[in-house]
Amino acid sequence: MAAHRLGTERMIYAMSPLNLPALQVASGDTVVVETADCFENQVQSETQPFVAIDWEHVNPATGPIYVQDAAPGDLLAISIERIETADHGVMTTGPEMGVFGDELAESTIRIVPIVDRTVKLLDHAYPCRPMIGVIGTAPRESAVPNGTPGEHGGNMDCKLIGQGATLVLPVEVPGALLALGDLHAVMGDGEVCSTGVEMAGEVTLRLRVLKGRDLPAPFLVDSEQAATIASRPTLDEAANAAAKSMAHWLQRQTPLSVAEIAILLSAKGDLRICQVVDPLKTARMEIHRSVLEDLGIRLEDLARV
Ligand code: CA
Ligand code: CA
Repeated sequence: MAAHRLGTERMIYAMSPLNLPALQVASGDTVVVETADCFENQVQSETQPFVAIDWEHVNPATGPIYVQDAAPGDLLAISIERIETADHGVMTTGPEMGVFGDELAESTIRIVPIVDRTVKLLDHAYPCRPMIGVIGTAPRESAVPNGTPGEHGGNMDCKLIGQGATLVLPVEVPGALLALGDLHAVMGDGEVCSTGVEMAGEVTLRLRVLKGRDLPAPFLVDSEQAATIASRPTLDEAANAAAKSMAHWLQRQTPLSVAEIAILLSAKGDLRICQVVDPLKTARMEIHRSVLEDLGIRLEDLARV
């Protein structure tokens, strides 16, 4: 199993089947990926003019990475082994941004120090829970801007996509063409002001091609739970799609009826918001691993227990 490194000299702004690979790896290889923050590190001061940000250079993703042997119809398992934090992050909000955009008269920038995996925010310290905002494979047909989430992943802003988790994405083009960026030192469900604690960083990933495996995608497994993730024009649609993605998979994996699965998810599943601020909204359906194990579904190969 080889180890690779990919720096920010190769970044893309849309997930596209036409992107040229920045790196080729084999299934099972480990890659250390450096990422710029969602503003491509343009925001470095709380007093700089917000209007000076070049919006053509936001949400950069490092890559894409071509995984040998990944063919359309396969799945790509991305195990996130480590996320190194930067020494600071950035938060912004303002008119037209996020849930409070209609109440804000001007833009605000906060530079957030990160020391010993703790963020210093509004005079208080909070633990980092580093996560990946943008991570996706190339869609089959046309390019999707990195700011938009979808079936291919992209800007899902799901806070479970962090250390120790394995994310499963579809392979729609040869090599999968994985790219990632938009790290957050910490983010709450919803990302209501339109940013997490945006930071540059370094992510250690192990990539594996899964062939002939029946899993939903995007799908996430960590030491606690499994989750299906879905993005749609409205939060209602995203929530329904995430729940149905989990239910339809359980229907294929178990002898349970639709009604029984509905009852089980209603009693033991948690339907949560990922984000409400991107062009499509994202939700996830979580179910604890112990509930899956009771059904005879074991996912040890996808995440450390
Ligand atoms: Ca994002
Ligand atoms: Ca972000």
